[in-house]
Amino acid sequence: MKKIANYINGKLVAPQNEKYIDNYNPATGKIYSLIPDSSEADVNDAVVAARDAFVGWASLRNTERADWLEKISHGIESRMNELALAESTDNGKPLWLARSVDIPRAKDNFKFYSTAIRHFSSESHQTAEGVINYTLRKPVGVAACISPWNLPLYLFSWKIAPALAAGNTVVAKPSEVTPMTAYLLSEICEEIGLPAGVLNIVHGLGHSTGNALISSDEIDLVSFTGGTATGAHIAKIVAPKFKKMSLELGGKNPNIIFDDCDFDKMLKTTLNSSFANQGQICLCGSRILVQRGIYEKFKEAFVRKVKDMKVGDPMQEDSRQGAIVSQPHYEKILDYIAIAQEEGGKVLTGGKAIHLEGEHKDGWYIAPTVIEGLDQQCRTNQEEIFGPVVTIQPFDTEEEALALANSTGYGLAATIWTSDLHKAHRMGNKVESGIIWINCWLLRDLRTPFGGVKNSGVGREGGWEALHFFTEPKNVCIAY
Ligand code: NAD
Repeated sequence: MKKIANYINGKLVAPQNEKYIDNYNPATGKIYSLIPDSSEADVNDAVVAARDAFVGWASLRNTERADWLEKISHGIESRMNELALAESTDNGKPLWLARSVDIPRAKDNFKFYSTAIRHFSSESHQTAEGVINYTLRKPVGVAACISPWNLPLYLFSWKIAPALAAGNTVVAKPSEVTPMTAYLLSEICEEIGLPAGVLNIVHGLGHSTGNALISSDEIDLVSFTGGTATGAHIAKIVAPKFKKMSLELGGKNPNIIFDDCDFDKMLKTTLNSSFANQGQICLCGSRILVQRGIYEKFKEAFVRKVKDMKVGDPMQEDSRQGAIVSQPHYEKILDYIAIAQEEGGKVLTGGKAIHLEGEHKDGWYIAPTVIEGLDQQCRTNQEEIFGPVVTIQPFDTEEEALALANSTGYGLAATIWTSDLHKAHRMGNKVESGIIWINCWLLRDLRTPFGGVKNSGVGREGGWEALHFFTEPKNVCIAY
């Protein structure tokens, strides 16, 4: 069985304790590879390697680091099909999705920051005749980058690329649930001869390997994407050490649909924003708020379309949804569906596991689920489920829509559907959320700030925001 290796100081190495964790293929429920169960000793080796490599990497010209990032981007491109297959096998997402979204985006993340760093500049301020302030932007040091399982290589590279571009060295830990493409990335870095220690990838569990990494006194900043509870734990450890932190956390996003919207476009996009990647995208809308005038029309059309969505083998081109990422997550989603029913919710479609046949009979599949009849304060509408489960709720006025939209502890993303430009801007301004999509969803421009408010996180990724996070400003004032 394939054993994944850590990538430390430029070499693919086994964990020192020789311990491994089982890695499952969610489509079949079978173990198909083994992941290093790395200990603190492996993390320390990686951190020391990153520390040793820092001065050399930081002192390269921006253009030289940009060239390295471009080589990584080409390396991903040249193994596109292999990476897409690995992502789908590891995560359960449809192969067509990994091929069209995840892996191209990982390639683009490196490409984007290879060009961004070439154009990165800092400010100067002329204070008076003979007095100039200028700001240096220096790399911070060793960056700890920790990522989740839902968009494995996509989110992993979204941190690593700007960290490296800015001149930091990196110790990265991918999710133990989906480690394979991070491992393949380390093969790519080894193949292109990335200088030793610049990027280190250590595999293992969150509470052991991840915890050792964020607790290390030798790291200088933490960039984390994952659950809100994990983010709070990390903040408790990292904040008292006054290290920079960026936390991209959970969401409970509203889709706000007014009766004056372009119905067909809204319907098509809302299907996608509800169930893409089995609803396991932090930006998926899980609370669909519909103005009463079109509520019944929407309900009927939406449920009909959801019933038609094929849940199946991720390798099949016509599978709209694949498998849920892991057995614990599958059970958690089914538990939430039961809670929703106990709370009085009516399941309009789905609401149950799907059992496929043949080699997929033990895979973890859940029918896309639509629930109505719940009030906003119930657990189903307050807690993140992170699966193919949405609720629909009617509203009458703009004020009511706003109150419903803002009534959770989260604030990551929202969609607003209306043809009224004034209403769109009013709502866009008032919905408490880091990202608003009006009459669209997941239209990404990598230059824009990415992240959430309230319990959805602290800080922003993307564009200059990430390069600012991964650099330390130093002001120099000179009088002449
Ligand atoms: P998670 O918090 O369980 O794990 C995320 C990562 O943190 C994994 O690599 C894990 O091993 C590691 N980790 C866990 N405990 C740790 C600890 N004590 N110390 C250090 N590292 C630790 O999250 P998950 O289940 O992998 O991912 C799903 C969550 O991620 C959802 O809440 C989702 O909303 C969120 N998410 C947010 C964004 C965003 O941009 N805001 C994007 C994707 C996913």
